[in-house]
Amino acid sequence: MAFDLVLRAARVGDANPVDIGLRNGLIAAIEPSIAAEAPSEDAGGRLVMPGFVETHLHLDKACILDRCRVDGTLADAIAGVAVAKRAFTEADVYARAETVLKKAIPQGTMRIRTHVEVDPRVALRSFNAIKRLRADYAWAVDIEICVFPQEGLLNDPGTEELLVQACEQGADLIGGCPYTDSDPHGQIARIFEIAKRFDIDIDFHLDFDLDPSRMTVEEVCRQADLHRWGGRVAIGHVTKLSAIPADRLVEIGRRLSSAGVGLTVLPATDLYLMGRGHDHNVPRGVTPAHWLMEQGVTCSLATNNVLNPFTPFGDASLVRMANLYANVAQLGRPVDLAACLDMVTGSAARLMNLKDYGIAVGNPADLVVLDATTPAGAVAELAQPLFGLKRGRRSFTRDAAVIHPPG
Ligand SMILES: [Zn+2]
Repeated sequence: MAFDLVLRAARVGDANPVDIGLRNGLIAAIEPSIAAEAPSEDAGGRLVMPGFVETHLHLDKACILDRCRVDGTLADAIAGVAVAKRAFTEADVYARAETVLKKAIPQGTMRIRTHVEVDPRVALRSFNAIKRLRADYAWAVDIEICVFPQEGLLNDPGTEELLVQACEQGADLIGGCPYTDSDPHGQIARIFEIAKRFDIDIDFHLDFDLDPSRMTVEEVCRQADLHRWGGRVAIGHVTKLSAIPADRLVEIGRRLSSAGVGLTVLPATDLYLMGRGHDHNVPRGVTPAHWLMEQGVTCSLATNNVLNPFTPFGDASLVRMANLYANVAQLGRPVDLAACLDMVTGSAARLMNLKDYGIAVGNPADLVVLDATTPAGAVAELAQPLFGLKRGRRSFTRDAAVIHPPG
């Protein structure tokens, strides 16, 4: 069999290293040793992942720290961006989003679901910019666009018309933000109606506080059942679930699992914004996704925001996000650390309904070589991606650090 390239000594999971033969941008063979004469790359027995999957990233409002007040509450962050985005132009959004992509690509990220705000303040300017960026960077990353009303839907005239226009013009899915709406359940119902009209998936920004009352998570499950949209619905943040006892959490986990609703935790943002009313014993405000996984919920960890009032940090590294979550959730056993890596790779891909993801013959040759030998070690040691192949072509290189002893 002829190959365009062979990636040699690639460690997939905890198994022994294999050779991966690539042809026409696809994985064509996975064998202990491929004898074919073909150009080759050497993974050197290191861990190889099928590219990281970022399920929740705001490219449109990244890198605006110079325009907004920082170190405020969630309400301050929403209000600050609401003002700033009136001045967003397509070129401005494109440039800032491109800055983030140029961080994410050398971190090994190869699939992104980006959440783009659509409302009368910003109209479709951000959406149009991200569509152009998606086309220009298709060689390195597959981007899907989730349009959503950050400042509410039923309380914000003109927003629904713009969301529908975006769906007509290439949005891949639709989101919601019930916690900023005057009628949270009404918004959830309306978003399901639009999703059904366009036959697209849904990804809600759900609740975002630590008050265990007035949860909307069960309403999302009820609507998912009602509309038979199980497997096509995800929810993000859901920080209320960090503020309830374990038995109640298990009950909700089972409900999410039976309704086919996935869940994304955004550790950096949730840690930064939650629990600000406490001056000691500050709650972490991070929903325990690993407990929900045990109930059969499809979970992911994601970056959310980069260098804006929601999260004034960010290198777009999903290895770092897995490590941050493991640290906050007090996970240290290898099996648990590997589960954290799964939440930025395989489980994240399932949440996004990606059908062609993973190191398997016939899938796209999306491969990232990490400076690690095990999944648990990659999370524990914040392993750096060394290089990546996107559909069989090298898309980034990151040289390993070199130390220079004297003499
Ligand atoms: Zn978000």
